[in-house]
Amino acid sequence: MSLTGKAALVTGASRGIGRAIALGLAEAGCAVACIASRKENAADVVSEITAGGGKALAIGADVGSLAAAEEAVSRCIAEFGSLDVLVNNAGIARDQLILRMTEEEWDQVITTNLKGAWNFAKAAAKPMMKARWGRIINLSSIVGLSGQAGQTNYAAAKAGLIGLTMSLAKEFGSRGITCNAVAPGFIETDMTQGLPNEMREQILKSAPVGRLGTPEDVAAAVLFLAGEGASYITGQVLVVDGGLTL
Ligand code: NAP
Repeated sequence: MSLTGKAALVTGASRGIGRAIALGLAEAGCAVACIASRKENAADVVSEITAGGGKALAIGADVGSLAAAEEAVSRCIAEFGSLDVLVNNAGIARDQLILRMTEEEWDQVITTNLKGAWNFAKAAAKPMMKARWGRIINLSSIVGLSGQAGQTNYAAAKAGLIGLTMSLAKEFGSRGITCNAVAPGFIETDMTQGLPNEMREQILKSAPVGRLGTPEDVAAAVLFLAGEGASYITGQVLVVDGGLTL
């Protein structure tokens, strides 16, 4: 699949799923603006892309800030001439049962995981509408579809992203912009590193494909949704979980 000549912005591109998405988009021909909370965190992925002959730019931005999102989008357009593909991937987890969860843990997760995507979609809306072409892909989760004890903040944010996705699909459909969500199951990244062994075993037993997911499994779904071939798909949630939730 070719995205040659297009420009993408990936939040949370420094590691894990976001890094795999940034590398995949670059491989498909996109110039990629790689966002992390600190610019230096995205330096490695940018070096990897440029070493392979691609174009990339590291930007430090807290996704929870609308002003930072607007500045990041402006920098992407100034550097690459457009913003065609937006991937809202940055996310954090602050897990606790509700009785122990602090208001701060609720606010942090909602601000980063949900408001962060709204901030970047809002900042990208005008240039994408002007170009009458765009792809917005939001990283939700299977827990946004089913809920999870100990993750009221995280699951609410991930379910909220699905509502955001469907609403943007309706707002932007007539402008050549699609908006879809990808809902991963358990993917081997820093975020799932602390998973207790019993839970890991349980997942391995329950997933029909018999393994945990890789960041590249998720990146493949994002790349498909970013491509020209997905132009008639919008407002959808693509589950990438090895069949775990079947
Ligand atoms: P990860 O390895 O923990 O990476 C998180 C990324 O988000 C990092 O690049 C981090 O950048 C960035 N980030 C966090 N807070 C930020 C902020 N305020 N501003 C800018 N960037 C910020 O996570 P992951 O496992 O790859 O997950 C990526 C996405 O997929 C998340 O939205 C997550 O909820 C979702 N997801 C993951 C799984 C899974 O099993 N791993 C399952 C379902 C959904 P820094 O370098 O600045 O820290």
